[in-house]
Amino acid sequence: MSLPTELCYFVAAILFMLSLKWLASPKTARRSVPISILAMGLAVVPTFIQRIGEPGGAGIGNTLAIVLGGLVLGSAIGFVSATKVKMTAMPQMVGLYNGFGGAASLLVAAVEFLYKTGHNPQGEIGHMSVGDSIPVHLSILIGGICFTGSMAAFAKLQELISGRPVQFKGQHYLNLVLLLAGIGLAIALTLNPLASWHLAAFLGLVAIALVLGWLVVIPIGGADMPVVISLMNSYSGMAVTATGFVLRNNVLIILGSLVGASGLILTRIMCKAMNRSLANVMFGGFGAAPIGPAAATGGTKGTVKEASVEEAAMVLQSSGSLIVVPGYGMAVAQAQHAVRELAAQLEKNGTRVRYAIHPVAGRMPGHMNVLLAEANVPYDQLYDLDQINDDFANTDVVLVVGANDVVNPAAKNTPGSPIYGMPVFNCEQAKSVIVLKRSMNPGFAGIENELFVHPKTMMVFGDARQTLTGMTAALKEAA
Ligand code: NDP
Repeated sequence: MSLPTELCYFVAAILFMLSLKWLASPKTARRSVPISILAMGLAVVPTFIQRIGEPGGAGIGNTLAIVLGGLVLGSAIGFVSATKVKMTAMPQMVGLYNGFGGAASLLVAAVEFLYKTGHNPQGEIGHMSVGDSIPVHLSILIGGICFTGSMAAFAKLQELISGRPVQFKGQHYLNLVLLLAGIGLAIALTLNPLASWHLAAFLGLVAIALVLGWLVVIPIGGADMPVVISLMNSYSGMAVTATGFVLRNNVLIILGSLVGASGLILTRIMCKAMNRSLANVMFGGFGAAPIGPAAATGGTKGTVKEASVEEAAMVLQSSGSLIVVPGYGMAVAQAQHAVRELAAQLEKNGTRVRYAIHPVAGRMPGHMNVLLAEANVPYDQLYDLDQINDDFANTDVVLVVGANDVVNPAAKNTPGSPIYGMPVFNCEQAKSVIVLKRSMNPGFAGIENELFVHPKTMMVFGDARQTLTGMTAALKEAA
């Protein structure tokens, strides 16, 4: 690489690191997006210009047209899908992007291997040292697992296949055997890249990586999907790092490492939030709770206490302290502005308002934070699970806005429930609980919720935004 290109890479790497750091706080997260775009431009454009000038580079023959065509088509698809996708479908979108990153790494490494082993128009054989081979095979293995694993996560989240764990006898042993076979083939190919059987072994390696990715993800149940998405994100980063070594491209190595490491950190945070160990997730549902009738129903017994918008507003009016627990339903209803308006009205009455944010609420990490930031909810009113869970006992009212699994006491009380062991909010410890949702339908994990029939709970059925707007109007009228 020329000096100007390397300098652009250096600046791009620093900008990538800064934008990652800024993403850690809602105050600075917005600025990190244009900076990341700039960094990506600094990584891609100089590489492209340099390659055009190289012998055999992109300027030769019709290669330039193919590369430019791919660039324009990919950018157009990315732009249209990013502007059209609903906030609620964002996890599937992230899943797809992770998968495409893995597929790209696999394809680049496959081309490198096939080209150097004589599968090119001239039949030329290139030199492939052990140092060259290791990243190629790692790219294929990790990229393939990431591709089909992400596609399985996408299919589950998009409900193209069942979100329930798909398990069969000996599944984990099969995964282990496949992984060992993949590693064995990679070692054999590294030591004998030109053996007579290299093509069969190469195809076997690709097939194993693709099958393994699918098999690793299908036993993981819907409620564990946040962990899968962040893990696949990390895999895509690791695959890109390996591809960086294949292409000897420093900015790919740095960017891939950043994605791989931050994905792993996020996976750890998600594991903690779901109370799953990383090993448990990596091996696809080892130790996953069995799903039985008790788990499915949560053993729910009791009577639903339905309340009108006005009755709920009266309870709020007399409250000195309120904790709002937002969930996926707030995103569906786009109720974040309505929540903020209700809170402002209550604050005028002297009510202390706080928001309890569960790490897996919604459908992507940080989902609730992004929506509440959009509605200008002050950051100092947002509390993590650990910070606020003990305060529910000293709180007058909890307002559950479209949350379900993250407030389900089955996670604490029902061994055998698919979410048993996941830390959840102690809503039932508050003096009163108001739940806003449209029906008694279950949430993402597909299980009933005994909080909804708890003696302290009143259910206000309807779209969360309309209910909140009605409650604010009732409070204003009463003021
Ligand atoms: P849930 O999915 O458990 O529940 C959402 C609730 O919102 C539903 O019960 C639904 O009930 C209600 N709802 C939907 N639309 C509306 C509306 N317009 N107005 C009012 N209510 C509405 O959400 P939680 O946030 O509690 O839990 C998140 C779940 O998603 C967890 O199981 C988590 O593991 C999983 N998950 C999280 C990801 C992440 O990264 N955060 C990624 C993938 C999965 P009704 O239909 O009756 O209205």
